[in-house]
Amino acid sequence: MPANPFKEVSLEEIKKEMVALSDEIFANPEVSGAEYSSKKAHVKLLEKHHFAIREFDLPQLETAFIATFDSGKPGPVIAYLAEYDALPEIGHACGHNLLGAVSTGAAVLLSKLLPSVGGKTLLIGTPAEETYGGKILMVDAGLFEGVDISMIAHPDSENRVSGESLACHEVELEFRGKASHAAAAPDKGKNALSAMMLTFMGINAMREHFTDDVRVHGIITNGGAAANIIPDFTKATFHVRAASRKTADEARERFFDIVKGAELMTGAVASLDCLGRPYDNMNTNRVLSDICTACMESAGMTDISRDTVSKVSIDMGNVSHAVPAIHPFFNITDESAPELHTLAFAACTKTPFAYEQMFKMAQALALTGYKVASDPALLAEIKEEFKKS
Ligand SMILES: [Zn+2]
Ligand SMILES: [Zn+2]
Repeated sequence: MPANPFKEVSLEEIKKEMVALSDEIFANPEVSGAEYSSKKAHVKLLEKHHFAIREFDLPQLETAFIATFDSGKPGPVIAYLAEYDALPEIGHACGHNLLGAVSTGAAVLLSKLLPSVGGKTLLIGTPAEETYGGKILMVDAGLFEGVDISMIAHPDSENRVSGESLACHEVELEFRGKASHAAAAPDKGKNALSAMMLTFMGINAMREHFTDDVRVHGIITNGGAAANIIPDFTKATFHVRAASRKTADEARERFFDIVKGAELMTGAVASLDCLGRPYDNMNTNRVLSDICTACMESAGMTDISRDTVSKVSIDMGNVSHAVPAIHPFFNITDESAPELHTLAFAACTKTPFAYEQMFKMAQALALTGYKVASDPALLAEIKEEFKKS
């Protein structure tokens, strides 16, 4: 591999395009599933760089796409994943404007290097990371078939290697009881709110017996109509998470048992609805992650945290069980290091420092793809680990 594979590539030009893309997405925030203009902005840039675009007539995937650059020579298929959905009211407070630009920049950079080594690079546009997890639907639809490796990098308050994430079930719970006058005839009622409160108490009691990775948390979205009526209907949403799908499945079974207990105690009847497809835990491919970390360093990124523990859930988790995958993080914040999903974090995506970091991360991801495309032994090692995991 040449010392600087990018030396023939007009880096400044591509960096300018990435900044423009990120700023355009930031200025027009679109929530999950409605990212029409954000998709268009990505597609426009990729078409300019000779990528072929494929769109999908599938439910909830209207704003998904796959852009392909084919070097014309045999070699691996290297995918970068873009997210471009925003949050209601607070816009790009998760920094998906930068995330999409990093993946797009990486795909464009790699497309300039691939003709010498062979293979294809894809930019996969994946909608709705913040809600229903477009990647999950895309994995289920078989759209990752034929992909050899997949990469995505998320903005954060530190540079960090790809690590873990929690598997997650989202469950909606309703109790139906019997209304009655709360003072004059409480004996005639069945209290759906008591059933809901007993469920929360049961979960709190169960925490002692869950392993440390398990997280169960919820909110009551309907707690009854009036204080002088025994509530005949209540509703809540819960997330049940754990370090693996197996443990999350088991924790969900315990949760269901608690609900049965609340039914018995109150006479209210429960109905449970598992919302959407579950999120899988992130299965980081260590071989690929180590290559990427070395590339982050050679792109000038310093202080890369090796902490792999994370308690969030990401739809890249499902991709990581379909094909070898990584999900590292890059720092875009100053010392105040605001949390994700805050306006302060959104503001951080517009600074010269963030643009620098975005470009370094894109180069690191492109270089990772280039290394894998240049060395069949590396790809074999990545696949071997994936098979074992
Ligand atoms: Zn987010
Ligand atoms: Zn995010």
